[in-house]
Amino acid sequence: MEKAFSHHNHQQCQSSAVSQARELCDKEGVRFTKLREQVFSLIWQSHKPITAYQLLDLIKDGDFSATPPTVYRTLDFLLEQGLIHRINSLNAFIGCCQPGEHHTGTFIICEQCEQAEEVDNDEIVRVIKDVSDHHKFRMKRYVTEIYGLCPQCQSENARCQSAGRESTEEEHQS
Ligand SMILES: [Zn+2]
Ligand SMILES: [Zn+2]
Ligand SMILES: [Zn+2]
Repeated sequence: MEKAFSHHNHQQCQSSAVSQARELCDKEGVRFTKLREQVFSLIWQSHKPITAYQLLDLIKDGDFSATPPTVYRTLDFLLEQGLIHRINSLNAFIGCCQPGEHHTGTFIICEQCEQAEEVDNDEIVRVIKDVSDHHKFRMKRYVTEIYGLCPQCQSENARCQSAGRESTEEEHQS
C-alpha cells in the first residue's frame, strides 16, 4: 500500500490492500467473506475516510443486497482485525497501512482534498504515554488526528493565488 500524499497507482495500492487483508484473515483463521471483502475494498477505493452511510449507499447501488446491520457488523469485524481505523472526528473509516501490527493510529488529514494518511507514530506514542503516566492515568487507546493542508493542496493553492495576482495585474494595465 502507498501513502495517500504521494503520487502512486492507486488501483495497485487498493488491490494489494485487499490481498494482504485476505492473507491476514487466513493467518488468523477468520473468514474474509464476500461482503467483508466488498466493504473493505470500498473503504480502500480512495484515501478519503468514508462514513458508514456512504458505504451503505455504494453497496445499495451495487448488485449486493446488504442490510445496514450486516454492514455495521462487517465494519466491527474489520476494526477488530486491525484492517481499518475509525477517524473519530469525522466518524468515518479508513484502511490501515500496516495491518497486522498492533497500533492505534495517527493521521494527518487534509481539509481540502479530504485525504488522510497514517503516519509513523513512535514519538507521539512516547509523548502520550508520558502524559498519561504523569497524570497516573491508565491509557487504553488514543487517536491523533492532525488537520491541515497536504503538500499537493498547498502547491495548488499557491498556483491559484499567483494566477489570481497575475489576472488582477492585467486588469490594472487595461
Ligand atoms: Zn493508494
Ligand atoms: Zn494502521
Ligand atoms: Zn490535500
